[in-house]
Amino acid sequence: MRAAVWYGRKNTKVVDVPDAPDPGPGEVKIKVAWTGICGTDLHEYWAGPIWMPLEPHPLTGKAAPLIQGHEFAGLIEEVGPGVVGFKPGDRVTADSETHCGKCWACQRHEYSLCEICAYLGLGRDGVFAPYVTIPADSVFHVPANISLQQASFSEPTAVAVHVLQRGRLAAGDSVLILGAGNQGLLQYQLIRHSSASQVFMVEFEGKRAEVARSLGAEVLDPSKVDVVDYVKKQTDGRGVDLTLDDAGNSETLTMALQATRIQGRVVEVGIFEKPATFNINDLVLKERELIGILNTGCMIPTALKLMAAGRVDPTPLISNRIDLEDVVEKGFEECIIHKDKNVKVIVNSNRDLWDA
Ligand SMILES: [Zn+2]
Ligand SMILES: [Zn+2]
Repeated sequence: MRAAVWYGRKNTKVVDVPDAPDPGPGEVKIKVAWTGICGTDLHEYWAGPIWMPLEPHPLTGKAAPLIQGHEFAGLIEEVGPGVVGFKPGDRVTADSETHCGKCWACQRHEYSLCEICAYLGLGRDGVFAPYVTIPADSVFHVPANISLQQASFSEPTAVAVHVLQRGRLAAGDSVLILGAGNQGLLQYQLIRHSSASQVFMVEFEGKRAEVARSLGAEVLDPSKVDVVDYVKKQTDGRGVDLTLDDAGNSETLTMALQATRIQGRVVEVGIFEKPATFNINDLVLKERELIGILNTGCMIPTALKLMAAGRVDPTPLISNRIDLEDVVEKGFEECIIHKDKNVKVIVNSNRDLWDA
């Protein structure tokens, strides 16, 4: 089969690889319909290896070169021995993690924090491919009123849900979102349907700001507006209760802290490509909290429920649909070079599922 394989930094290629294996006990083989290109894929392509294992992964024993891709939906192709609840043709999506079941986090059933978690496309072969074989316990049925294109957003939507959990979003909160990329726009849709009192988004002019405004967001362009000053004025001089930093760099981290009230919360969502520099007194002297977040928090079922209920619609976030063969040029390269023109590019792995 054809698949997009990571060989090294700026060296992902669509090549012939062996077919995905037949499902073993407890596994299913899935025919992949659509896979979203995630910031994580771009980080590995542009600045990796970050998570991509060069030595055998402690859980799976796999090492690069590996097939990339983890945000997907498709159809059950084949069911392994002992698997119940799935049959060929079922519409499904999956969590990206495979966990060890033995570490401290796994013992607490916090599988998405497994100390040796193997992510699809990062610790095992991913889904920029026509087929994938994975454990059935990470697979979920897609509600009937969601397309497979929409369901390919189940993982980032679950991350967005987990971001709000980590930030302890409360009734009446004012919220600042830094970055109107896919993650920020999913968070915005969730917050819009919550009891938050005010929401501000920060993004430069371009496609992302446009989509944010079309969803009803107030968008501040940081090249034109002093964000900290503006947000404070809008919150009686206090700053917001909660800031979500999806951009993940030293400047946005500082902006996030300074725009947040005394004892407010900042959730750091972005992945840093290098160590950050910020004034720790921006944290200490206002008793602010800086909170990390990783992965879905096992919130895929919740994400699917929210999508089925219309609380989140990823469709306006899709800026292009492309073929697997074009994933590097029209996908990775395009998303990096023309970041301002793209929110989410989704990749089709099987032409007969283009309309799925
Ligand atoms: Zn992702
Ligand atoms: Zn574990």
